[in-house]
Amino acid sequence: MQIKDAWLHAPAPQQVLHLIAAAGYQAYVVGGCVRNSLMDVPVTDIDIATDARPETVIALAENAGLRAVPTGIEHGTVTLVADGQGFEVTTFRCDVETHGRHATVAFSSDLREDATRRDFTMNALYARADGTVLDPLGGLPDLHARRVRFVGDANARIREDYLRILRFFRFHAQYGDPAQGLDPDALAACAAGVEGLDRLSHERIGAEMRKLLSAHDPAPAVGAMAQCGALARVLPGAQPEGLAVLVHLEQDTAPDWLRRLLVLGGQTDHLRLTRREARDMDKMRAALAEMTRSAEMAYRMGADLARNVVLARAALFETPLPPDWQDCIARGATARFPLRAQHLPHLQGPQLGAQLRALEDRWIASNFSLSKTELLA
Ligand code: ATP
Ligand code: MG
Repeated sequence: MQIKDAWLHAPAPQQVLHLIAAAGYQAYVVGGCVRNSLMDVPVTDIDIATDARPETVIALAENAGLRAVPTGIEHGTVTLVADGQGFEVTTFRCDVETHGRHATVAFSSDLREDATRRDFTMNALYARADGTVLDPLGGLPDLHARRVRFVGDANARIREDYLRILRFFRFHAQYGDPAQGLDPDALAACAAGVEGLDRLSHERIGAEMRKLLSAHDPAPAVGAMAQCGALARVLPGAQPEGLAVLVHLEQDTAPDWLRRLLVLGGQTDHLRLTRREARDMDKMRAALAEMTRSAEMAYRMGADLARNVVLARAALFETPLPPDWQDCIARGATARFPLRAQHLPHLQGPQLGAQLRALEDRWIASNFSLSKTELLA
């Protein structure tokens, strides 16, 4: 099996792999880039595994005139920058002692040992600079069957690092075969380990949930998360039922993780939303509860958020989308209120604000049709 894609054969990755190999060390691309390439999914970042120690990697890079940044030196990771592109180079590792998230690591010169500490068999694939794929743990059949399977015993691997519970559901949503369902042993292990989710940082939970909910169809994975008790730990009060309906309604609309989150409901404090996301979520939840009309929502909060609320409503109440909903949103999003403060010269301060708002409400109720003259009359 051979990778022929440009992400690997471009000058920058070739330079990094060759500068390590030229010094007599092993150097492979590994993990997500190999997996995605073999699945015909775009490759975004390139990780490299080597038996060279981090200080050796730094020295080799600097000799070749490349910048080396010690981005995770305690885990053996150095980021090399070639042609403005970053490559995370990590020394082969084995986990000596694990603490449910952070492990004490030891470096290794054995590829198989490095593969064994990885989470899923489809993530334990390597490729040489010439594209030859190495599969030390038999991950290729799983990858081709789109089966997310733990490396080794699922229970033990989860106790080492509870983040793997979320990664299991996330990778299933992204790369699993929806027809095949989730591995029952892994699900049982997730159920047994859910309490460990409370020990994870909100940043990590948020990052995994964003990726999970951005997948083409996260509904089966989220349904399984609910059944095994994981969903209630990371999103207390969430209801998974509406999600499959939403995904079905989304046909012509790109996935949006916040829209999916809106339909799930629940407390978002474990997800570390950005300020912007939290504000958008508050607006959407208020509009969802108040049954605001589509055009008014689009006028007040923009077309994207309004579209999310209309879709979420249809999913949650299991009602069809109104035939003209897209037109209503377009009309509201482009409507411009014809009055400004200068049109009400006799008013000032709070009275001016109140009168402008009252007239704006009338104008919205008229379906944005009242003119300036009609409003002032
Ligand atoms: P993506 O970047 O698309 O989310 P990825 O597979 O590259 O997917 P990363 O989180 O970037 O995922 O990790 C890179 C690789 O490191 C994984 O493919 C896996 O081999 C290993 N890995 C990452 N996190 C863990 C973990 N918690 N436990 C075991 N191995 C892990
Ligand atoms: Mg990655």
